[in-house]
Amino acid sequence: MTPFTYARAEDAAGAIALTGAHADSRYLGGGTNLIDLMREGIEAPAALIDVTGLPSGIEPRDDGGVWIGAAVKNTTLAADRTIRTRYPALSRAILAGASGQIRNMATVGGNILQRTRCTYFYDDAARCNKRAPGTGCDAIGGFNRIHAILGASPACVATHPSDMCVAMLALDAIVHLDGPMGARSIPLADLHRLPGDTPEIDTVLRPNELIAAVELPALPFAARSAYRKVRDRASYAFALVSVAAALDVDGGTIRDVRLALGGVAHRPWRAAKAEAALRGRPATEASFRAAAEAELADAAALRDNGFKIELAKRTIVATLGDVMEAGA
Ligand SMILES: Cc1cc2nc3c(=O)[nH]c(=O)nc-3n(C[C@H](O)[C@H](O)[C@H](O)COP(=O)(O)OP(=O)(O)OC[C@H]3O[C@@H](n4cnc5c(N)ncnc54)[C@H](O)[C@@H]3O)c2cc1C
Repeated sequence: MTPFTYARAEDAAGAIALTGAHADSRYLGGGTNLIDLMREGIEAPAALIDVTGLPSGIEPRDDGGVWIGAAVKNTTLAADRTIRTRYPALSRAILAGASGQIRNMATVGGNILQRTRCTYFYDDAARCNKRAPGTGCDAIGGFNRIHAILGASPACVATHPSDMCVAMLALDAIVHLDGPMGARSIPLADLHRLPGDTPEIDTVLRPNELIAAVELPALPFAARSAYRKVRDRASYAFALVSVAAALDVDGGTIRDVRLALGGVAHRPWRAAKAEAALRGRPATEASFRAAAEAELADAAALRDNGFKIELAKRTIVATLGDVMEAGA
């Protein structure tokens, strides 16, 4: 491992100030992804700035929303009573990820910014445009069972690995950022990028910008939201396909809906076409299937991952069914 310095920040301002001392620093959350990347030689920062001292509160808002500090541990967030009652899909998504030990260490900020699990990204004998821009992508002609079916490019077919982000995306999360150029807030939907010609850039974050907090707006019908994750093993495995869903049904007709997919694209995928197809329709399996067909109409398979297209459709239908059973 390349030598690096370590410093712990007490707050956002302190963390941002510390980045000025090193040309190549990284914020450190629980370290469950970044330290692995450093051990593998994929990332080699000169300095780590520990941001686990940033706000770690979960604050319910009177309007029905909730404010979540970036340093909140995944375990704490999943277990929180407000989250479990107002946004159960988020609690279930977090508990579907990683292991108990990892969730105890992992933070909200780090989970959002974890890097892809594409095996070619982690294999320095392979060509990977995300790890080494301009070298090519061995996943495209290789073993690509876990790779993207939506929004991929000729440069990169990697997927975003987070379960938590899929639920947060469906719940219209806002990410509060702070950095050398000041504070700003953006929808989570705008944070992660599609790969295009620059797959080495995962997000729209500016240099040394940090995640200070995540805010979930009030969404009363999310109290009956659901999350489904399909994977090769029952635990300790990343999603092949996952779905977060919330439905607002009035007299058998869908008044409103939130739907997002994981494991299918370079970023958590908001299923906007399916949502549009569902609003105003009867809350039936036929409507759910038609919406799933609409969302996956542009999906493109590689050699090994064609099964994901039908799997995503079925998982959308099943997850919406779960929400109905919960009493949407
Ligand atoms: C074996 C294994 C299995 C896993 N399975 C799953 C799974 O099934 N589902 C899933 O979703 N995840 C899974 N994970 C990933 C795990 O959830 C992430 O490693 C974890 O959430 C990262 O959080 P962290 O705080 O440890 O981040 P770190 O490793 O500390 O950081 C990750 C990235 O975020 C940046 N960062 C951290 N905090 C901030 C901040 N506040 N502002 C700006 N940048 C910041 C770091 O610089 C780094 O680039 C798995 C991990 C392992 C090792």
